[in-house]
Amino acid sequence: PPGLYIVATPIGNLGDLSPRAADILARADLIAAEDTRVTAKLLRHIGAERPMIPYHDHNADRVRPGLVARLGGEAIALVSDAGTPMISDPGFKLVRDARAAGHAIVTLPGPCAAIAALTLAGLPSDRFLFLGFLPAKDKARGDAIAEVAAIRASLILYESGPRLGATLAALAAGLGPREAAVAREISKAFEQCVTGTLDALAARYADAPPKGEIVIVVGPPGEAPAADPDDVEAMLRAALARMP
Ligand code: SAM
Repeated sequence: PPGLYIVATPIGNLGDLSPRAADILARADLIAAEDTRVTAKLLRHIGAERPMIPYHDHNADRVRPGLVARLGGEAIALVSDAGTPMISDPGFKLVRDARAAGHAIVTLPGPCAAIAALTLAGLPSDRFLFLGFLPAKDKARGDAIAEVAAIRASLILYESGPRLGATLAALAAGLGPREAAVAREISKAFEQCVTGTLDALAARYADAPPKGEIVIVVGPPGEAPAADPDDVEAMLRAALARMP
C-alpha cells in the first residue's frame, strides 16, 4: 500500500537485513537512498532492482516536496547507507511533512550502531543519552561535553578513527573518571569492544587511531558516597588525629 516506509538496513553484516525489510525494498515503487550506489549493492544482494532517488543532507529540501506529493499513490522506502534512518542520518523532516500531509508512515525496525554498542559495553543500559557526533572543534566539543556532564545516564557517541583519541581525551577531561567502552566494526569480521576508564582508553588510542567505524559508550557518573553522619564524625576524628 502507498505510504512512507522507514527501512533499517545492516551496519555491516548483510545477514542482519530483516526479511520484512528485504520484502519492502524489493517491492517499493521508489527508494529514497542517502547514497544510491551503497543501496544498489544491498539491492543486488537481495536480487532486486528498484527505482532510486538520492535523498541526503544536500538535496533533501529540494527533493522532499516531490517525494511527499508522490506518497499518496506510491510506496516509498527511505534508507540510509547503514543502520536506522534518522539516527545521525537524514529523514525526520520527510516523516514530519508526510505526517502533516496525512500519509501512512510505517517503520521497519532493525540494526542501529548506537543500540548495538550499548548491548556490547556492559555499562548501565537503563538510562542513556545518544549524542551522535560531537563537534570537531575543541571549544565546541568541550562545551557539548560540559552540557551533559551532570546527567545521570550512560552516553553514546559516534566517532571516526582519526578523531577517537582526541575525543576520548576531551571526554576524560570533561566528565572525570568514568568507565567506558569503544565498540568498533560491529557485526563485521573485525568486531571489537575495548573497555576501561576514559583515561585509560584515551591513552590507548592517543597515538594509535583505529580503523573502521566506532561507537563510544560512557557509563554514568559514579554514585557520590552517601554522607553518613557517623562516617563524617569518624573522618573528622581521624583528620584531627593526623593534624600536627
Ligand atoms: N544510522 C546509523 C545507525 O543506525 O547506526 C548511523 C549512521 S552515522 C552517519 C555512521 C556512524 O555510525 C559511524 O561513523 C559509526 O560511528 C557508527 N557505525 C555505523 N556502523 C557501525 C559499525 N558497524 N560498528 C561501529 N560503529 C558503527
